Amino acid sequence: MGGAKTNLVLWKNGKRIDGRGKEDLRPVKITVGVLAKADGSCYLEWGGNKVMAAVYGPRECFPRHEQDPYKARLRYRYNMAPFSVDDRKRPGPDRRSTEISKVSREALEKIVFLEYFPKTSIDVYVEVLQADAGTRCAALSAASVALADAGVPMKDLIASCAAGKVDKEIVVDLNKAEDNFGSADLPIGISPRTGEIYLMQMDGQLSRQEFDEAFSLAFKGCMQIYEKQKKALKDKFEKMTATEIGDLNGTD
Ligand code: ADP
Repeated sequence: MGGAKTNLVLWKNGKRIDGRGKEDLRPVKITVGVLAKADGSCYLEWGGNKVMAAVYGPRECFPRHEQDPYKARLRYRYNMAPFSVDDRKRPGPDRRSTEISKVSREALEKIVFLEYFPKTSIDVYVEVLQADAGTRCAALSAASVALADAGVPMKDLIASCAAGKVDKEIVVDLNKAEDNFGSADLPIGISPRTGEIYLMQMDGQLSRQEFDEAFSLAFKGCMQIYEKQKKALKDKFEKMTATEIGDLNGTD
C-alpha cells in the first residue's frame, strides 16, 4: 500500500487501469491434477498471478517430534520464486512468506478433518511462479483445490479474494499497480457451506462504511472463485471417470 499520492492514472472513463469495473475480477483459470508426483495439485492463473499448489499426505509425520497423537499436522509453505517479480526476489523464506504461510495454514486447519489422521502430516506447498498482487488469495484458493484433489476430507473448499480502496473507490481484486498506489487491501477467505470466515487481513485504512463495502465485494469475489474451483474439480473427475471406463472396456 503506497497511499494515493501518485501520478499514475488508476481510473480512466470510469474504468480501472486494466479496463475492469469496480466489481470485476481479473480472469481466473484453474487446472486440477497437474503434478504426477503429488497426491493432489492445482495450477491457478488469476490475472498476472500464476501459482502451483501441491499436496502430499496424509502421510507419516517426520520429524517424529512434530507428530500429534490426536490429529494430522497440516503444514503450509507459501514461496515466491525468484523470477516471480520484476526485480529478482531473494530466494527462501522471509517475514512476508512466513506470515502468509501461517495465516493460510491456520485457515486450512479449520476446514480439514485433521482428527481423522492422527500422527500424520498433510503438507501443502504453494509456489508463486508469477506475482501481480493478490497472491495469498490465489495460493489459498489453489491449495484448497489441491487438497480436494488429494482426497483429503474437508468441510468445504476455502475460496479467497481481496477488495480494497483505490483513489477513494472500493474495488475488488486489486492488481499490482492498484495495490502499490491504492490505500487499503482486505483479503478474505471464506467457506460458503459453513458460512465462516477463515482468513481476514487488512492493509491500510478503511472507514466502517468502506470496510462493509469492501467486505461485500470481496465476499462476492470469493463466491465467483468458489464456482470456478468446483467446476475445475468436476472437470477433472468427470474426465478421469471417462478414462477409467475406457480402460475397463479396453479402449483408449
Ligand atoms: P499479496 O500478493 O497477497 O497481495 P502483498 O500485498 O504482500 O501480498 O504483495 C503484493 C504484491 O507485491 C505481490 O503480489 C507481488 O507482486 C509484490 N511483491 C511482494 N513481495 C515482493 C518482493 N519481495 N519483491 C518484489 N515484489 C514483491
